[in-house]
Amino acid sequence: MLRRVLSIASSAPLLGLLLAASASPADAQLPGTRAPGAPTTLTAEQQAARAIYKEIVEINTADSVGSVTRAAEVVAARFRAAGFPAADVNIVGPADAPTKHNLVVRYRGKGRGKPILLLAHLDVVQALRADWPRDPFTFIEEDGYFWGRGVSDDKSMCAMFIANLLRYKREGWVPERDLILALTADEEGGDHNGVTWLIENRRDLIDAEYAINEGGGGTLQDDKPLLHSIQAAEKVYGDFTFTVHNTGGHSSVPRKDNAIYSLAQALLKVQQYTFPVELNPVTTAFFAQTAKVEMPSLAAAMRALVANPADAEAARVLSTDPRYASMLRTTCVATMLSGGHAPNALPQTAKANVNCRIVPSSKASQVHAELVRIVNDSSVVITGDRADRNDGALPVHPVLLRATETLTKKMFGDIPVIPTMSTGATDGYRLRNVGIPTFGVSGIFSAPGETNAHGRNEKLRVKSFYDGLDFLYELVKQVAGPGQPVS
Ligand SMILES: [Zn+2]
Repeated sequence: MLRRVLSIASSAPLLGLLLAASASPADAQLPGTRAPGAPTTLTAEQQAARAIYKEIVEINTADSVGSVTRAAEVVAARFRAAGFPAADVNIVGPADAPTKHNLVVRYRGKGRGKPILLLAHLDVVQALRADWPRDPFTFIEEDGYFWGRGVSDDKSMCAMFIANLLRYKREGWVPERDLILALTADEEGGDHNGVTWLIENRRDLIDAEYAINEGGGGTLQDDKPLLHSIQAAEKVYGDFTFTVHNTGGHSSVPRKDNAIYSLAQALLKVQQYTFPVELNPVTTAFFAQTAKVEMPSLAAAMRALVANPADAEAARVLSTDPRYASMLRTTCVATMLSGGHAPNALPQTAKANVNCRIVPSSKASQVHAELVRIVNDSSVVITGDRADRNDGALPVHPVLLRATETLTKKMFGDIPVIPTMSTGATDGYRLRNVGIPTFGVSGIFSAPGETNAHGRNEKLRVKSFYDGLDFLYELVKQVAGPGQPVS
């Protein structure tokens, strides 16, 4: 995923810590800066997890030249060697994409309730040796960080889930219900998305009450935990094309009707329009929790809006920050423009792309209709190329939320646990769309912008890796252990 990365000044709103996806300055780490807290000696469990992490980071799984299947096979061998029945260790994927196969492992429980799915993607964003000072597919530990492509996104979570399942097995733990581990292909792009393939072809292998995925995690400020986020919803991506055709003519004889002017006027209407506020259980919880750590004026507006979603003044105050504005409502913005065919001719065609990020409670067809209504010009043809989706925004599963809050307090101190709606995308929406609620929670903490996921010199704090390992070990034990309600 595009992890939230943003440098913030101390007075800037805290949403940047949670959600904004933007390029961070590469190599932001100062020379000689050392991340504190890395253990000096490792437990046997930490050593085992580190070996798995190193092994999978060093297999190139980028779309271009890499192979997710190779990584899946290496991991599958570990599970079989640990005594998992061969029938519960499956490598499956499209026949026409032999490098894009997924690993699905089932850890048998007592059969009380539907399984819990542990999802992580094995593929990584392209990393070119020429762009990196060192080989991106050589796993390096230095200055309190792990370095290499995928150490953050998302091979850290892969390694944690793998190591923890192997540990449960060694320890003889039998969960109340089955756990399913799915390590997938093409989350970062490519034509064979693993989660989509599994849903369409092997739903039986991954069907679950809910899934735990990437997309959440903790934020550090001055090396101290500040907040812990659980991703519980995502906005839906939708592109709309605005097209105006005109008979054109000689530019020495202009007319009032003009494709470029018509398009420009339509786009200005989009600029001036604000979609209505649409809160859902996730964003309501987000604002309620974020108010605890936000500066007073914004915190007051958040509390007011939670109390009364129709409070226009509160919405206005929050909307002064574009990142909060995008949490409140659907947004649409012009992103591309073209038109005309010669400098001395009246334009025959003008075209623009309007990119919308649609709140889960709206459908693409409703946004389309709204754009047609506000533009109110039949010469502007608006088309959308996305199928209607409405993936919902469910509250965080109560058992998962309670376990996350308890463990967060125990491991990281008295900091808020904040449900979030991402404005970008992970594979979570694919599962939500087919009725498998998906929550991004990891226990992995980092400073804003620090990991530089997708960029060069991707890194993760060593301490954060081992903390996440422990956190997920306990979290999964709690939610799948005895005493939890099952459905
Ligand atoms: Zn990712």
